[in-house]
Amino acid sequence: MRLILLGPPGAGKGTIAKGIAEELRIPQISTGDILRKAIKQGTPLGKQAQKYMDRGELVPDPVIIGVLKERVAQLDCTNGFILDGYPRTVPQAVALDHAGIEIDKVLNFVVTDQTIIKRIVGRLTCKECGAIYHVKTIVPKVAGKCDHCGGALYKREDEQKETVRKRLRVYKKQTAPLIAFYRKKGILVDIDAEGTPEEHLAAVKRVLGK
Ligand code: AMP
Repeated sequence: MRLILLGPPGAGKGTIAKGIAEELRIPQISTGDILRKAIKQGTPLGKQAQKYMDRGELVPDPVIIGVLKERVAQLDCTNGFILDGYPRTVPQAVALDHAGIEIDKVLNFVVTDQTIIKRIVGRLTCKECGAIYHVKTIVPKVAGKCDHCGGALYKREDEQKETVRKRLRVYKKQTAPLIAFYRKKGILVDIDAEGTPEEHLAAVKRVLGK
């Protein structure tokens, strides 16, 4: 199965992607995680992407389209994948069509700006595996350490309040048009992304018939 998780930053896509990737035994592909890893490793891609990411802007389409095509061509994607954070613009979606990569379902996470700001501002991410925590709602068992791999938890540079507001503006302008794009294709399903991660996961499993 080939899935796209669509929604503003902080809608809970990453957490859900990890949950259903395990259930469906297909990889979660987070372009944000790929870029953060490239920055950490100091690769040419990382150097190119960092300035956009720190400003809360999108990395240019030609760069990210290349990254995505290379990733989905890998062997572990033979039975499908979950795209988390791609596509983020209409040209990125058209690039999937042109590459003959057919998508089965697009899950559109619907949530208010107010909820998003509350969530992202308290968020902590694992440096090693990308797992997501929250100072109030998803508290790690040991403070500052990932429950899954023991990696250090940190606050992302682009998760400060002003940058989050900017990312929301970017989402509305550049990414939200994808809702109409995929609704027209008849493969988009809305998911209520208020509430808890457990409730979102249950809603997604219902939609996927799991
Ligand atoms: P995320 O972890 O998905 O919230 O992504 C963090 C940042 O990485 C975004 O704010 C963008 O700067 C960049 N990024 C991730 N995925 C994409 C994409 N598909 N297109 C452009 N920029 C991206």
